[in-house]
Amino acid sequence: MAGIRFESVGKKYSNGFHAVKDLNLDIRDKEFLVLLGPSGCGKSTTLNMIAGLEEVSDGRLLFDDQMVNYMPPHRRDVAMVFQSYALYPHKTVFDNIAFGLQMRKVPREETARRVQDAADKLEISHLLDRRPSQLSGGQRQRVALGRAMVRNPAVFLMDEPLSNLDAALRISMRAEIKDLHHAMQTTFVYVTHDQAEALTLADRIVVMKDGVVQQIGTPDDIYERP
Ligand code: ADP
Ligand code: ADP
Repeated sequence: MAGIRFESVGKKYSNGFHAVKDLNLDIRDKEFLVLLGPSGCGKSTTLNMIAGLEEVSDGRLLFDDQMVNYMPPHRRDVAMVFQSYALYPHKTVFDNIAFGLQMRKVPREETARRVQDAADKLEISHLLDRRPSQLSGGQRQRVALGRAMVRNPAVFLMDEPLSNLDAALRISMRAEIKDLHHAMQTTFVYVTHDQAEALTLADRIVVMKDGVVQQIGTPDDIYERP
């Protein structure tokens, strides 16, 4: 995918609340874009519109010049990782990672190869027979990353993926996510309220407040470093 474009996009929830107002943004192919701002500023709503989990109320959302306002989530070339992992508790790690491929009727052998490959990259191949309850928080989040990776999406969407982890793990997994971005050569759109996380990860940062974009720039543009 060459890029995602928001043209004067607004999101109004059914209770009348405008969570995102007049958003104009070009997300470039293969960049690491971070949406940064305090809780409630509209970051998740923006990400969910890319995923197709929330409808655009006003304006146009384009993937490669094609309007996708009404395209259902499963037809979009995106994969999402949530803060809460959203793993299936009764499935093994293997089946959790494989689920999206199984749904898409990818042949069994190819599924196994792609799951193994993702598990190797994430260093969880020794855990493939376990269930989520038998894993640590960091391991669970690696499984969630694996599930998104095997689909080879053009766009990787991540909503506060490290927020449930303790501080030390959060910092080491930042580096892993950065490595993953290099390895996968795809577009990442990453939501966080953590300034340090945004500074470490982003090629560009979009700063939001009250549903409005305040600033867009590189970490250096946005923060003067000592
Ligand atoms: P829609 O997504 O069509 O706007 P609703 O407004 O009925 O639908 O809300 C959908 C879901 O979001 C419901 O589960 C509701 O509890 C939740 N929700 C409603 N208002 C808020 C809010 N202010 N913040 C977060 N979640 C909310
Ligand atoms: P962030 O990700 O920055 O924390 P969100 O995009 O989740 O912000 O929410 C933006 C605003 O929209 C918040 O004020 C939130 O309460 C409200 N909101 C979120 N979901 C709903 C919903 N379904 N219905 C009504 N309001 C919502």
